[in-house]
Amino acid sequence: MNSKTFSKILIILGLSGAAFAQENRILSIRLLEKLNPTDLKIQSPAGKGVWNEIKLSRGQLWVNGKAQKTASWGSQDSNLKIHVQNLTRIYPGKIILKIKQEKEGLKLFILNRVSMENYAACALAFESDFDQTQPEYLKALGAVIGFYAVSHLHRHPDYDLCDLTHCQVYQGMPPNFDFWSKMISASRVLSSSHNFELGSFYFHRCCGGILESAEQIWGGPKSRARTGPDEWNGKPLCQDDGFYQWTSSTGVENVEETLKTMAQIPPLARLETFEIIAKTTNGRNKTLRSIFMLPNRKTREIRENVPRFISEFGKHFGWRIFPSNWFEIQKEGNLFKFSGHGLGHGVGLCQTGALKLAQMGWTWEEILNFYFPGT
Ligand SMILES: [Zn+2]
Ligand SMILES: [Zn+2]
Repeated sequence: MNSKTFSKILIILGLSGAAFAQENRILSIRLLEKLNPTDLKIQSPAGKGVWNEIKLSRGQLWVNGKAQKTASWGSQDSNLKIHVQNLTRIYPGKIILKIKQEKEGLKLFILNRVSMENYAACALAFESDFDQTQPEYLKALGAVIGFYAVSHLHRHPDYDLCDLTHCQVYQGMPPNFDFWSKMISASRVLSSSHNFELGSFYFHRCCGGILESAEQIWGGPKSRARTGPDEWNGKPLCQDDGFYQWTSSTGVENVEETLKTMAQIPPLARLETFEIIAKTTNGRNKTLRSIFMLPNRKTREIRENVPRFISEFGKHFGWRIFPSNWFEIQKEGNLFKFSGHGLGHGVGLCQTGALKLAQMGWTWEEILNFYFPGT
């Protein structure tokens, strides 16, 4: 398809929603929440300025030994360096610091005010493992990352996005930042001349051969992302990915423990049945059923949403057991064995598939239009 056709499709696509990278859109990203530091150092500007010592102590924010309510450094065009515990990162834009009361107690609240384009360039580098070899793939993925951010503003009550996989991983500026920035500016033509609905722009690492529909897996309105086989000329595009097919296993007690926490089942109950009872039309697991034998010999049946189960399981036992929610379950002795497909939710652009299309010579517009057809 030539780019003229693509533009036409975009115009037909839609008339609602904000455009990506409206020139000066500034995002608020919360940094380093998981690390939860109580002291750190900030150098502003990065590499040149003096280092400021920041501490959370006796319920107050201390900057270079002075108690303060808030503190901020930098501007839209500057970069700052943060040193915390054993990591050092450079962030574009401005940093604002204050103390925040949260469930777990007082925390340092570190906010990065950053332009959409700089944010997207940083996220793109990380999401593509810093691999610069296929620019057309990177431009397509960069557009999706930008659209995703714009359609998830205020995802958190006090800021737009966190810096974790919950939103998009954001670890500040990558090496060769100019290259990543160029990849993002390439798709800016979309922002200036087209307005279209952004809610359907998702991506994942490998779909395992079948693209999932957002409305089936998450509910909500119908999106325009491609669903069904992720293939070209009858060949699955992502079949070389290590996660195209996978197997894993875990002790029965781990599944049992997770379900008990989720459904407040008494500690002495025993898991008798663990099975999938509802799938999407594309084959991904939606609902599971488990039956517990209680100490009083009565049984209790619970039904759980599979993505919720995976997320709960992951928090306690790591994320490697369920790379995706497309899997079969087999019990062998004291183990549950899983065989599945894909890495991630399977909705929207399949990164491995898109990379393959770029290797086959497709342009970024063609790749985007493949994963988000205008129908
Ligand atoms: Zn988040
Ligand atoms: Zn795929």
